[in-house]
Amino acid sequence: PSAIKDIVLELPETRWTDIGGQQDVKQKLKEAVEWPLRHPEVFHRLGGQPRKGLLLYGPPGCSKTLTAKALATEAGLNFIAVKGPELLNKYVGESERAVRELFRKARAASPSIIFFDEVDALGLNREDGGHNGSGNSTGVLTALLNEMDGIEELGNVMILAATNKPEVIDPALLRPGRLDYILYVGPPDHPSRVEILSIKFAKMRLGADVDIQTLASRTESYSGADLVKICDEAVLAAMRENLEIESVNWRHFEEALQGVKSVITDEMVRRY
Ligand code: ATP
Repeated sequence: PSAIKDIVLELPETRWTDIGGQQDVKQKLKEAVEWPLRHPEVFHRLGGQPRKGLLLYGPPGCSKTLTAKALATEAGLNFIAVKGPELLNKYVGESERAVRELFRKARAASPSIIFFDEVDALGLNREDGGHNGSGNSTGVLTALLNEMDGIEELGNVMILAATNKPEVIDPALLRPGRLDYILYVGPPDHPSRVEILSIKFAKMRLGADVDIQTLASRTESYSGADLVKICDEAVLAAMRENLEIESVNWRHFEEALQGVKSVITDEMVRRY
């Protein structure tokens, strides 16, 4: 039996167009990952070396996971997602086995992406050998580094990791040939909030008094996830008012704005 309950192969259906804003991140990933895969002859002729590992960092709810999924969809890669803390199994040796199993599956499914969310969990508490209740992180990290260093001969497996605590990532993970391409995925500015809201609005039935620009102005320092939550709360507010209601109106957004507060703080953004 596998040490991680569910190493599942996913076929994400997220497209670049499902992500509002983040033009720069999208473009960089297209270039670094899609181009070499789509035009291998040109890339090799010019002497390019494919990226193996990438780190996305930034505040919560700002589309790191969406980005990883869109990259898999758009570049035609199989997708395996795992959360850092899931790998820290309390039985000695189990976690290392899980890491090897993960890479074995990814190689079998290549070309593929392994997405490590909350990868910072693997770098914590290395000094005390990980014997502090958070699991055996040293062993997992070593196993992970070994697998990553071996990727070259082992086929077309790419590693994508995400964190909102880049400062606690073990530096060994960031060395050349490992997670050596680092991209900041930040909170949305006004035009990006409009884009995110219009993606969401396209699926909603809205009253004529709902103004997207006003909502974008009222949601400074909200994450993409917060914006989606506001829209869903507005739907509930409308239903609460009247189950026969035809559309979600501005008053429902007002109500939703009361309930959903931004999770991104100033310090959070300044920290990056
Ligand atoms: P965490 O650090 O908490 O894991 P994350 O950065 O990985 O967060 P996602 O899981 O990608 O964030 O985003 C959460 C949800 O928020 C998405 O499923 C989507 O509904 C919405 N969302 C966030 N950013 C955007 C965006 N730029 N465009 C559209 N939807 C977004």
